[in-house]
Amino acid sequence: MISAERKVESEDEEFKMEIKLLSKDKGKVRIHVKGSTAAEMNAYRRTILDTLPAMAIDTVELLENSSALYDEMLAHRLGLVVLKTDTESYFIRENCKCKGVGCARCTLNLTLEAEGPCIVYAEQIKSKDPAVVPVHGKTIIVKLLANQKIKLIAHAILSSGKEHIKFSPGLMYYQGYPNIKIGDVKNPDAIAEICPTKVFTTDHKKLSIKNKDMCNLCMACVDASKGEVEVKGSETDFIVTIEPWGQLSPIEMVNGLVDALHEQIDALSEEIKKLK
Ligand SMILES: [Zn+2]
Repeated sequence: MISAERKVESEDEEFKMEIKLLSKDKGKVRIHVKGSTAAEMNAYRRTILDTLPAMAIDTVELLENSSALYDEMLAHRLGLVVLKTDTESYFIRENCKCKGVGCARCTLNLTLEAEGPCIVYAEQIKSKDPAVVPVHGKTIIVKLLANQKIKLIAHAILSSGKEHIKFSPGLMYYQGYPNIKIGDVKNPDAIAEICPTKVFTTDHKKLSIKNKDMCNLCMACVDASKGEVEVKGSETDFIVTIEPWGQLSPIEMVNGLVDALHEQIDALSEEIKKLK
């Protein structure tokens, strides 16, 4: 269990945030955040989506392409290949010493060569850096028939979702933590059955909550029970899901989020100082 506390003193109240890990499944992480606001959760969500840097193929030099796909289409498919990202070793091009020209500090060259008949998979892309390789090796790039051939050099760079969504490392989404009130339920079995995430159980023909954390506020139980069950999402407690595409781990995404927010706050602070 991860737990963290944040205390912010204000004039008449003490604001305290608590975080608890709910589940971790195939890289998807769900956490329970207590003592926050929807605005704060949304700032985190937007930062993860469009500010955290990740690597993706940006330009492709096609030396040969006799496949059925146009050059542009092949380049587009390569751009969407998810690449494991090493944010420590690469700089965003605009911040690089080369001033955007492209060098080993900001650009990684990858090569791909294949001859049909075959299906070309992402795992056939050769990378000079073992830390930056396709995450999902069985992603299909193109199908080649006999005598068809592709040969190319691809340039991967570090950038953010603001430039193109292919650089976005994943999603973060949130919902209010469910507050569930069970009234006089006439047909508990039907309510337990209708819940798609199996939140309820029926012990001795009485409806009770088995797994509150799984409630996604779909309101199927509220509709089916005609109000005998009441569900409301909290405005201060949230269930947050972090779903990486594979470039970064959930922990790397959270660390990147904290760094990005610090940078943004520092930049804002600098601008405010200039106003004085
Ligand atoms: Zn450079």
